Amino acid sequence: MSINIETPVQYLKGVGPKLGDLLKKRGIATVGQLLEWYPRTYEDRRAARNIASLQAGQFVSLSAKVLSVKNFNLGRTRRKIYEVVLGDSSGRISCKYFRVPYKGYFERFKDCRDVRVTGKVLLYRGKIEFHHPDIHVENPEEEVTDQIIPLYSETEGLKANKLSKLIDSAIDQVIDHPVAPPQTEYSHLPRAQAWRKQQILGVPDPLPEWIKQKYALISRADALKEIHKPPADKGDEYLNFKSPAQKRIAFDEFFWMELHLAATKMNVQREKGVPLETPPQRLEEFYQKLPFKLTGAQHRAIKDIFVDLKKSHPMHRLVQGDVGSGKTLVALAASVLVADNQMQSCIMVPTEILAEQHYLNAKKFLEPLGIRVALLTGSTKAAEKSAVNTALRAGKIDLIVGTHALIQEAVEFESLAFVIIDEQHRFGVEQRNKLKAKGMSPHFLVMTATPIPRTLAMTVYGDLDVSVIDELPPGRTPIVTRKVFENKRSKVIGFMQEQVAKGRQAYIVYPLVEESEKIDLKNAMDEYEKLKEQFPKIRFGLLHGKMKPDDKDKVMKSFRDHQYDVLVATTVIEVGVDVANANMMIIEHAERFGLSQLHQLRGRVGRGQHKSYCVLLLSYASGEDSRERAEIMERYTDGFKIAEADLEIRGPGEFLGRRQSGLPGFKLANLVRDVEILQQARDAAFELIQKDPQLKLPEHQALKTYFEAQKAQLTG
Ligand code: ADP
Ligand code: MG
Repeated sequence: MSINIETPVQYLKGVGPKLGDLLKKRGIATVGQLLEWYPRTYEDRRAARNIASLQAGQFVSLSAKVLSVKNFNLGRTRRKIYEVVLGDSSGRISCKYFRVPYKGYFERFKDCRDVRVTGKVLLYRGKIEFHHPDIHVENPEEEVTDQIIPLYSETEGLKANKLSKLIDSAIDQVIDHPVAPPQTEYSHLPRAQAWRKQQILGVPDPLPEWIKQKYALISRADALKEIHKPPADKGDEYLNFKSPAQKRIAFDEFFWMELHLAATKMNVQREKGVPLETPPQRLEEFYQKLPFKLTGAQHRAIKDIFVDLKKSHPMHRLVQGDVGSGKTLVALAASVLVADNQMQSCIMVPTEILAEQHYLNAKKFLEPLGIRVALLTGSTKAAEKSAVNTALRAGKIDLIVGTHALIQEAVEFESLAFVIIDEQHRFGVEQRNKLKAKGMSPHFLVMTATPIPRTLAMTVYGDLDVSVIDELPPGRTPIVTRKVFENKRSKVIGFMQEQVAKGRQAYIVYPLVEESEKIDLKNAMDEYEKLKEQFPKIRFGLLHGKMKPDDKDKVMKSFRDHQYDVLVATTVIEVGVDVANANMMIIEHAERFGLSQLHQLRGRVGRGQHKSYCVLLLSYASGEDSRERAEIMERYTDGFKIAEADLEIRGPGEFLGRRQSGLPGFKLANLVRDVEILQQARDAAFELIQKDPQLKLPEHQALKTYFEAQKAQLTG
């Protein structure tokens, strides 16, 4: 039978049922998907090297012998490090692994001593070493020729050699010698489907000619072929991910995502919204009654919003601003304009304590202007709740602040025109949509304190307009941040005692990561008990994620009201709580937190007039990277700087957290390395949608079909 990109992979020669299953588990069901199993990297065999000649920063490949395979624990933690020591006649080098690539990976080297190692040479404590290099057993039959060899991520049960052979055969049958399937092959399918399948010959290239020309892109078929079989003289291009083939594939991956965003944005712009045309009447009064002047950045964000609110399609805007940059006031200013247009606004926040905090602010600043505000949370009493609901429906409330309670069915508005979602990363798309559905295409503002570097914002929030509050209110004393090793812990606690004696409050934060949740939780609880015993005069509170929401809120409120001096907590305190009297934070096992998280946590202090401190306690065994993170925290207080550093260190998947990222998994493209390509793909997608919003032009038909198939894949 003939093979095309949609053929199930089992039909390839050499793929039995067992291998077929294995491939399926890795997401490879069709021949096309097999062709998209791109090499992880390439091995440059052109330069013979030995260990003594290696220099930090080089990307190399060389033959060596395995001298030993060991594993040891990382300090007192349960994390294991694996070390493979390699040697040749010139010297030896250590290869470290912080996780096991797959079961049995290290066992392979026990009795096979001759290997080839490929990776980047690093300098660590004055010595060169590899971290997570590719090591594979040298194949004596394989001829070492002067060339560049693709290296695939190996998977248990599938050797690299076998994989290369399969890919070769797919390239041969699909790209080099494509054969149209006989008419009969699809005779069991409905005619339209059979016809479509019949058309698939080789590798289709859905990009229109003008885009390929404008961005100098080679054909997709050529790219797929070259990426698996790079020309021998293009080694450097490939190793640096600068080849035309890699560019084309990365472009494609970005392009479909950006096209999706561009189309979404275009749809919003065609939606009919509620233009708020009456100019604000009470805004000047609002500004005058504030105890401070808004920052320039706050004014700019407000202006962006006002321009949007006048338009006849709904606003979709993101306000991004570091912790403490004053996003709440921006939202309140906008709700003044909405009230002046006789329409309603609502603010949804993730926790009750935040809702209460916003409500109190709204009351303080808006009620004097005659704007009616209300609060609705899970613990609002039934009678109060129904009174609020009635008033909302009658249009007697201008702004309502609340938690998830707002999306319940009983909640109805008379004229909801403006929806604000605070700390938006805590909410799912569905919850946002439910709230939106309570108005007639209301204007929509999301606010986040998670600073996202520009490149990521282009992808994650690519369909939103963005205002950035890049300025903190004046008069904040910067937080003094220090990394401290665990042997100095008692000194740190001593310092905390002094602060408490002065009437200040403090947080002690413990990590809580999923894989060892139980142990971690025990740590926080044990430590809480120990501290209570050790310092009977200090009032300790305990807060962790396993507590019921009500109990959490109670503890937080008691801390806010200074019934506790020190709050021992896991990361649940991360979101938006404002306790101005708390001026110290101790983060235990800081090595186990990511940068963004450290930054979010630190944002809980430095909110009042007292000088604030953040201590990052590191265990001795913490690796180089965690020390690097701690140093970045010492150096920067600007969330965007930290976010950029974080993105570099961790890559986008980790940076966003896999579940909430909503990013399609890129197989080849890399948001950090390939920023320029991302920008081009974005420009192309937006230009296309501008030119042909409905994708009606004949030259865009192939693209449209492909795009719709992709969308179906994404959503179902
Ligand atoms: P975030 O952006 O983290 O949500 P908030 O809106 O909670 O920040 O504001 C943090 C604190 O700063 C609040 O106590 C708020 O009253 C205060 N604040 C906001 N804007 C200003 C300003 N322009 N000048 C001084 N203080 C301000
Ligand atoms: Mg906030």
